[in-house]
Amino acid sequence: MTTTATHRALNFSAGPGVLPEEVLRQVQHDIWDLGGTGIGIMEHSHRAASYDRIIAEAIADCKKVGGIGDDYDVLFLTGGASTQNHMIPANLLPEGGTADYANTGYWARKTAEECQYYGKAHIAFDGKPSNYTFIPRQSELKFSASPAYFHYTSNNTIMGTEYHYVPQPPAGVPLVCDMCSDIYSRPFDVTKFGLIYAGAQKNLGPAGATVVIIRKDLLERSPRPLPTLLRYKPFAENESRPNTPPVFAIYVVGLVFKWILKQGGLKPIAERNQSKAKIIYDVIDATGFYTGHARDDSRSLMNISFRTPSPDTDKLFITEAKAEGMDNLKGHRSIGGIRASVYNAFPTEGCETFAQFMREFERKHG
Ligand SMILES: *Cc1c(COP(=O)(O)O)cnc(C)c1O
Repeated sequence: MTTTATHRALNFSAGPGVLPEEVLRQVQHDIWDLGGTGIGIMEHSHRAASYDRIIAEAIADCKKVGGIGDDYDVLFLTGGASTQNHMIPANLLPEGGTADYANTGYWARKTAEECQYYGKAHIAFDGKPSNYTFIPRQSELKFSASPAYFHYTSNNTIMGTEYHYVPQPPAGVPLVCDMCSDIYSRPFDVTKFGLIYAGAQKNLGPAGATVVIIRKDLLERSPRPLPTLLRYKPFAENESRPNTPPVFAIYVVGLVFKWILKQGGLKPIAERNQSKAKIIYDVIDATGFYTGHARDDSRSLMNISFRTPSPDTDKLFITEAKAEGMDNLKGHRSIGGIRASVYNAFPTEGCETFAQFMREFERKHG
């Protein structure tokens, strides 16, 4: 019956991505029996006392990790991050209004496109002409006259670019951030934000739950009548349970928050992410064999997108890496090449093994 793999691959998947091993061990146990109840986590009612505790702790721990105050609500929604592409304008953009978007890549462009169902998207920065290789500076953001909000994507999972500052919208304009692929990879000042969202499957847990951190005053905006489950407020008022929430995903995300707290919180996590990414970027920078996609000042610490001298060599790289237990390195179809995603749960030793492999591959094929 048991088919426990004795060896786990080094998983560079961009999402769903690698999870902390101690979290997976706990999940293994709780799937069978949650806390001595004789009922597994997937079989409990979302209204059971044991689940009351799980969701309350997940919300409290999310706040503790992020230093999030009482003027914000933490929500667990469904439909992936992409559902926020329409939920945000539906809830925050008045009829005929304009919202500003920074287009820094695939996901950033998609979210701006979905805005059109509710109003106008003004592109405050367009990275397309430069093939999305860099993050705009504050001075490169050109805002419209009175945007309902400004949306940016803090980490571009595909391009491998990341903001290393928090952009500032015009005074009084809520800052909305797609933080899917770098949420809780480093500390941030939540008070600068109106709304943050992230599909859990990159850095927080399994697919199925989307974390939304929303400033409470934004819950009161209702620019149009909307069905209940398209509004944020019913989720805020009912601990994310106006209907059955993704119980299992929320439970795992809760365990990941506890894991982050056990690591000492976001500061040590950020330091480790810095040194992990550096191990790989150092190999890219050492010679001309590897070329990174991102401009140096815009490099992502989570997703490292690069290429070898040719698409054929990229392919060979991915095949040889896989043979050595390093998996999911193929770049996204939109830019090709190689992508190494090294989320919070990806171990430092894994980066060292990979760097060694990169050097060896270059020696053989360079
Ligand atoms: C993965 C990703 C998305 C899309 O997430 P879904 O949950 O699949 O909808 C959006 N934005 C960014 C930055 C992502 O990395």
